[in-house]
Amino acid sequence: MFKGILIEKDEAGYRAALTDLDEGRLPEGDVTVRVSHSTLNYKDALAITGKGPVVRAFPMVPGIDLTGTVAHSTHPDYKAGDAVILNGWGVGETHWGGLAQKARVNGNWLVPLPAQFTLQQAMAIGTAGYTAMLCVLALERHGVTPADGEIVVTGAAGGVGSVATAVLTRLGYRVVAVSGRPAETDYLKQLGAVEVLDRATFATPGKPLGRERWAGAVDVVGSHTLANVCATTKYRGVVTACGLAGGMDFPGTVAPFILRGVTLVGIDSVMCPRPERLEAWRRLASDLDVAKLATISQEVGLSDVLPLASKLLNGEVRGRVIVDVNR
Ligand code: NDP
Repeated sequence: MFKGILIEKDEAGYRAALTDLDEGRLPEGDVTVRVSHSTLNYKDALAITGKGPVVRAFPMVPGIDLTGTVAHSTHPDYKAGDAVILNGWGVGETHWGGLAQKARVNGNWLVPLPAQFTLQQAMAIGTAGYTAMLCVLALERHGVTPADGEIVVTGAAGGVGSVATAVLTRLGYRVVAVSGRPAETDYLKQLGAVEVLDRATFATPGKPLGRERWAGAVDVVGSHTLANVCATTKYRGVVTACGLAGGMDFPGTVAPFILRGVTLVGIDSVMCPRPERLEAWRRLASDLDVAKLATISQEVGLSDVLPLASKLLNGEVRGRVIVDVNR
C-alpha cells in the first residue's frame, strides 16, 4: 500500500481525498518510480478542485510532475536507483500522476535528474519552472537578446513567473514584472525584476496598439493582459504565451502582428518533444541560480495539498509549492 491523493467523480460528485492505495491499482508502464517529491501547479489545483476540465479519466491521482528514484524498470534506459524527473505527457490528467508515493509510467516520459539538482530542487522548479525555461528558449530562438530591451513577465509572483524572472535576470535581461500583489514587490526585486507594474493596468481592454516598450514577453495570464502585452511590444518583438490565469480568451487585434511584425509564440510543456525537454533541463541547470530556489519555493506534505489548491487558484500562493509525498 502507498499514500496518494485520489480524485473520484461519480453519483456522489467530484471529490479529492488523501487515501491508501494498493500497488496493484497502478496503471501500466515499464518504469515504477518511488516518488520523492511532486508539486502543486496551477493545473493540479484545477484538477483537485474540479474547477477546470483537467482530469479525463477517473479515478485519477493528480500531479503533473514528479521526481523520484526508479524502483523497477524494464525500460532499456533506466535501472533501479536512477533519479528521474517527469513533467507532463498527461500524467495527472489521463495517467496516474505524482501526488502519491508511487507512480508507474512510460520510461520514454522520464528525463534523468541533472547532477546539479537534488530531487527536491528539481521540484522547486517543477513543470512551472521548466515551462518558464521553454519560454526563455523560445525568446532566444526568435533572436531576442538582452541588448534589445526590456522583457515583461506577467503573473510574476506565481510559479512560471518567478522562475522566468530569475532566469532572465541571470541571463542579463532587464525584467519588468507584472503582479497583482504589491506585497510581493520586494520578493520580485530579489529575483531580479527592475520594476514591478500593477497587473490592473493590463487587465482591461486596451488600444490595438500602444507605446512600444517590450523586446519580449513571458505571459501566463492570457485574455486582455496578453492582448495588451502584444499591443505594447516593440517592432519585431517576441511574446511567449503559456498560460490562462486571467482567462482563456484572446481579445486582441492583428495590428501588432501585421504592423509591427510581432511574433506570438505558443508554449506547451505537456507534449513538448524530448530533445527540447532535455535542453530546457540542461539550461535550468546552468542558468538558474540554485540559491534562488529557496526564496521561490515552499515545501508541504501530501495532506496540505487539498486546502492549498483553492488558495493557489485565488492567486494567494507565492512562487512554487513542492510536495514531499513522504511527509
Ligand atoms: P500560479 O498560480 O503559480 O501563478 C499564476 C499567477 O498569475 C498568480 O500568481 C498571479 O500572479 C497571476 N494571476 C492569477 N490570477 C490572475 C488573474 N485573474 N488575472 C491576472 N493575473 C492573475 O500558476 P503557474 O505559474 O503554475 O501557472 C501559470 C499559468 O501557466 C497557468 O495558467 C498554467 O495553467 C499555465 N501553465 C501552462 C503550461 C504550458 O505547458 N503551457 C505549463 C505550466 C503552467 P500575481 O499575483 O503576481 O499577479
